[in-house]
Amino acid sequence: MSATWSERYAASLMNTFGPPKLVLTRGEGAHVWDENGKEYVDLLGGIAVNALGHGHPALVEAVSDQLSTLGHVSNFFASQPQIELAEKLLALVGEPGKVFFSNSGTEANEAAFKLTRRTGRTHVVVAENSFHGRTMGALALTSKEAYRAPFEPLPGNVTFVPYGDSEALAAAVTDETAAVLLEPLQGEAGVNVPPDGYLARAREITSEHGALLWLDEIQTGIARTGAWFAHTESGVTPDVITLAKGLGGGIPIGATIALGAAGDLLEPGNHGTTFGGNPVATAAALAVLHVIEQDDLLARASSLGNRLRDGMAADPRVTDVRGRGLLIGLDLSADASAEVTAAALEQGFIINNPTPNRIRLAPPLVLGDADVEAFLAAWPAILDRAGVEPPS
Ligand SMILES: *Cc1c(COP(=O)(O)O)cnc(C)c1O
Repeated sequence: MSATWSERYAASLMNTFGPPKLVLTRGEGAHVWDENGKEYVDLLGGIAVNALGHGHPALVEAVSDQLSTLGHVSNFFASQPQIELAEKLLALVGEPGKVFFSNSGTEANEAAFKLTRRTGRTHVVVAENSFHGRTMGALALTSKEAYRAPFEPLPGNVTFVPYGDSEALAAAVTDETAAVLLEPLQGEAGVNVPPDGYLARAREITSEHGALLWLDEIQTGIARTGAWFAHTESGVTPDVITLAKGLGGGIPIGATIALGAAGDLLEPGNHGTTFGGNPVATAAALAVLHVIEQDDLLARASSLGNRLRDGMAADPRVTDVRGRGLLIGLDLSADASAEVTAAALEQGFIINNPTPNRIRLAPPLVLGDADVEAFLAAWPAILDRAGVEPPS
């Protein structure tokens, strides 16, 4: 008997993620297929990455055209898609500023973290239950003890405050604070939504102390919540915005956007990258932004998200439902999110269990109405199968 793909994975890849749930071989739109030909509706979208789903023709064409025209240049040279993407992102933010491109979320945050050091201050205030990435700098800004502990000492002078608590934030920020870093909604924590006015208050507090307001929109940005950026509806203008996940629609890219004077903090020699701003990755992102605009996927994210939230919350075993647009988190009446995720997979739906009692969905923005209805129809049976009981 020859080894299975799963056995070959276990024998050849570092065990950083635990055993993979499936070996996937193909995708189209919001659907993927495994090595046995079984089809799934993808309600996780590569964790908020596959904004246009799988194999979107506009993305495939943009990447293929760019790769056959000019695939890579060093950062001694510029390329047109890189410039166009920087201009487009600044236009979407609606403020003048400067962009640094990288290849991932954690790199976008590393660049921003270094930028904050150029204020001459080192203190950063971050929220508990935040997730900002796995490289040493981003990890220093991530509160989860299990992620941090094996790697201490990490860069210091970081204060963690409860998320959503403006008073705790006001108490933590001083005239020595370089930046406050917040997710507009906390993604990896299972989708936490702060109280109204939280970001506005964070803006006031940072401005009072001359600190930067840095918003990590790596998961929430690029139409995920039904707006280009999750902070848009707060009316707040941050100093720094970090992006990644959905921006490239599956092609790796990160972006650090610094607005106003913050855009000039990093100077020649302060930071760099070989691949960041690569023509293929930036062409991919331009295609993603174009399709979102052309197909009005902002509105679609909002309406599909509302339908999914209402539909799932109709079951009494769902005790809380949160999120905006197609970033959805819900609480179960029992610590059974692993069982629910497994039951969903059996029924042909990919969902995610970020904590023992929380489920997260972050599907492609091109998810079909029929996919939504099929999932909602299957939802009670998925909870049955996982043995979840209504609250007593
Ligand atoms: C995923 C994520 C990151 C890290 O991005 P990577 O591409 O995995 O390095 C950082 N911040 C937030 C909010 C994220 O969701």
